[in-house]
This record gives sequence, C-alpha cells and structure tokens, in this order.
Amino acid sequence: MSRTALRICPLCEATCGLTLTIEGTRVTHARGDRDDVFSRGFICPKGASFGAVDSDPDRLRTPLVRRDGELREATWQEAFDAVAAGIRPVVERHGPNSVGVVLGNPNVHTMAGALYPAVLLAGLGTRSVFTASTVDQMPKHVSSGLLFGDANAIPVPDLDRTGHLLLIGANPLESNGSLCTAPDFPGKLKALKARGGTLVVIDPRRTRTAKLADRHIAVRPGTDALLLAAMAQVLFEEGLTEPAPHVQGAGELAEALRELTPEAVAGACDVEAGVIRALARDLAAAPAAAVYGRIGSCTVPHGTLASWLVDVLNILTGNLDRPGGALFPQAATDKTPRPAGPGRGFALGRWHSRVSRHPEAKGELPLSALAEEIDTATEEGAPVRALIAVAANPVLSAPDGDRLDRALDSLDFMVSVDPYLNETSRHADVVLP
Ligand code: SF4
Repeated sequence: MSRTALRICPLCEATCGLTLTIEGTRVTHARGDRDDVFSRGFICPKGASFGAVDSDPDRLRTPLVRRDGELREATWQEAFDAVAAGIRPVVERHGPNSVGVVLGNPNVHTMAGALYPAVLLAGLGTRSVFTASTVDQMPKHVSSGLLFGDANAIPVPDLDRTGHLLLIGANPLESNGSLCTAPDFPGKLKALKARGGTLVVIDPRRTRTAKLADRHIAVRPGTDALLLAAMAQVLFEEGLTEPAPHVQGAGELAEALRELTPEAVAGACDVEAGVIRALARDLAAAPAAAVYGRIGSCTVPHGTLASWLVDVLNILTGNLDRPGGALFPQAATDKTPRPAGPGRGFALGRWHSRVSRHPEAKGELPLSALAEEIDTATEEGAPVRALIAVAANPVLSAPDGDRLDRALDSLDFMVSVDPYLNETSRHADVVLP
C-alpha cells in the first residue's frame, strides 16, 4: 500500500517542494509539489532522483568500521564506540586542534546540518574547521560582513519583480543559482524577458545563460573587480548615484575610484570603455535593477573586492533592499528579535591556519589548506592527526585533491558521515551513513 508524503528537497538551497510516493519504508517516486507556494511544482533532475537513490544498492545501509584493514559492517553502537576510541587519544595526545572537521555543502541544506555541527565543534573545541563554503562563496560572506556587519546578510535579486538583471560570474541555467533561494531560476529569467525586462551577463564564457541574455560581456578572467569599479566610477562621474540617506562613505569611495575610469581599465578587462559606460548607464536608468554576482566573481583574484562592488553598485543606484532590486531575505524563523542598535560587527582573522597563516572567516579555514595542515609539520602546534568529514568529499571537490588523497592515508584516525563510499570516505576508519 503506497502513501504520499510532502517534503522539501534537501539537496540545494532552492528548497523545492517534493511529492514523494512511499511504499512501506521505500521512496519509489518523486515529483514536484504543484501546491508548494514557493516552487509551484518545479524540481530539477536531482530532486527527481530520490526514488533511485533510496533503492541504490551502492548506498550504505549500516555503519562501517575498519577491522584488520578492511571496512566491515557494524552496529551503530559499535561504530560510535569506535569513534570515541579513535578520537579521544588524539585529543589527549595532541590537543583539540589536532582534530580537523570538514563540513560539506549538504550541511547548510538540512535541519540536522544546521543544528548538530555546532554541537560537535563545541564538544571537540577545535579550531581546525574546513568548509565547502571556503571553496566557492566565502568572499561574499566576508564582503557582506564588512559592509553590513553580518556575514550572512547577503542581498538576493528580486527575480520576480526586477526589470533589469545584471549577472556576473553566474550561470543559473546550469546551476539553478546559489546564495539565492529560487526554485526554477531559469524560468524566472525567461519570465523577466517575457515581461520586457533586460538580462545582462558578464562572463568570460558564452554560457547557456549568456546565450539567453540581451547582452553578453566577455570580460577577461580575473578582472571582474576592475570592471565593476569602473562602472561605479561612471555613476559618480555622470551624477547617476542615488544612494539611500543612511549610506556612509560615498564621498570617499568616489575619490578612491576617480582614476578607475572605463578608459583606464578597458585594456585590462578586454571590454571597450563605451561598453562599460553603457553598462553603468543602463543600470542607473532602469526603474528597478539588481546586480547579482556568483561563484565566478568569488573564485577569482580580488573576489572579495568584486563581491563588495556588486553590492556597491546596488547601493549607489538605490536598488538595495527595494522591490525589484537586491533584497535582504527574511527567514521563516529567526533569532529572538533584538532592539535596533550596533552589533558586535564582523571579525576576521581571529586565528590563522598553522602552515600558510590563512585567516579564519566565520570560524572557518580554507578547505584548500587541509592537505598541508595534515602533511606539514611546523613549530606552531601539532598537525591535524584525526579528521571528521561530515557530508563532504574533499578529495574530489577541493583543490589539489591528489595531495589530500595521500595526506588522508597518514592520519591516525578518520570518520566520514556519508551514505556512500567515495574518494574521501574510503580512507575512513568509521563510516556513518
Ligand atoms: S533545484 Fe533541484 S536539488 Fe535544488 S532543491 Fe530544487 S529539486 Fe532539489
């Protein structure tokens, strides 16, 4: 006898509504929930795959514990006992920072991921925390922290109401967008065009999204910040700014940008000065416009500066937090309301990675530094000797995965929380599915 269950897809931040068919304890089919007020029936191929995932014979059903060099099936109690027996001696011998934790992308898309890693980190007391966010979006967090005082205050484009959308380093026709909860992002771009709006894409590649755009600017890779700075310079030079009254520092910014004219940056960006001026003028002239930068504007030299300039353009054109512009989203639930007033602000670099001295941001260290934190000895504390990877496959997803692959073999102990044996979890002593 089958039944239907309504759920939210936990695989990405679009949070599409799912209608699941369940037979006994098995998901046999998944489709979009047409009554979901947010996604209205949309799902992508990943969301439609839950039936296949549930019945996948390769998916782990029980924990694995390494015995005599082999990963063997175990009970949950045996697995938890093995974790305690493996982690405790490392902490006692080398201190809490010798236990590294890797938090993968799924942690930010599930309630469990939102609730329990903080408890784990507090219990361990380690600062050796490496995250997927540091691979693709940390520059945006840092720029938001410095600009708005909150690293998670990331404005998102008001896709349903904007009349002019400028995307830089984003290809939502492939990715469905990120840092912007929007089921059916591609459909929303087509709707923008259907209602007479303008889509502009800045991207070195002629991506699928660029092909859909009214205008595609093929900027030279790594010069996003220069291009955006020159657009802001045009806004000042031509008197096109209309920042909100509470905006501070516009005068200093105008002075700082004075020499970054379109003519000065055109050669570096490989974009004609006239095109840069037109980008700025069109943005300012639109009744409601939004600039949205994503991974391509983060994973470049000066990515934090480019991420900041995205919001500078939204602020200077009066489009920050107004309908059709770039909005601060409101969560369905939030912390206890507090009276308005200055917060503690955003701190950066409260500690550093041991080997290359990377600053922490949001309490996180770059995932790209994990391999050297394991395989390189310094006089400043012990290397990472044990690792807990939660929903993470950094051997596949982090830079220089080959070095990390070798480094994981040298650990004293490793735990993977993962439903599959993959490039990373195969190194673990305990796998918790
Ligand atoms: S876009 Fe796909 S993966 Fe993301 S929430 Fe929707 S169905 Fe799930």
